[in-house]
Amino acid sequence: MEQAELIEALANLDDSDFYAVLGEVFKLRSPDKYQNDLIRSHYVICKASSTPVDGENGEEWGPWKLVVYAFPDDREYDHPWGDLGFTCQSGVCMTCGVNLMSVAKHAICSVCSSKAGLS
Ligand SMILES: [Zn+2]
Repeated sequence: MEQAELIEALANLDDSDFYAVLGEVFKLRSPDKYQNDLIRSHYVICKASSTPVDGENGEEWGPWKLVVYAFPDDREYDHPWGDLGFTCQSGVCMTCGVNLMSVAKHAICSVCSSKAGLS
């Protein structure tokens, strides 16, 4: 598959399939070629967003906020999560402190792999 075809295929996935595909790819690919005792790293799905605020010159864009996507904790549910696209749950990982979003209240932090309770 050519790169342009791959980009088009990924761009046309719905959010649920996009998250699932990236999640599987990220299990196989590391951002650091040479993992060693000095660094540990992995990719995560992260959303950067900003909202309008009242500024000195009228409406301006506020600061950027990063929120990491957390996959549902399958151990907590007796049904598969078919649609991963509607991320209505949010919170902070109590272990590593990153902001999280998920479709599920019981999720796994994509940064540190801790269980996370979201609301
Ligand atoms: Zn965490």
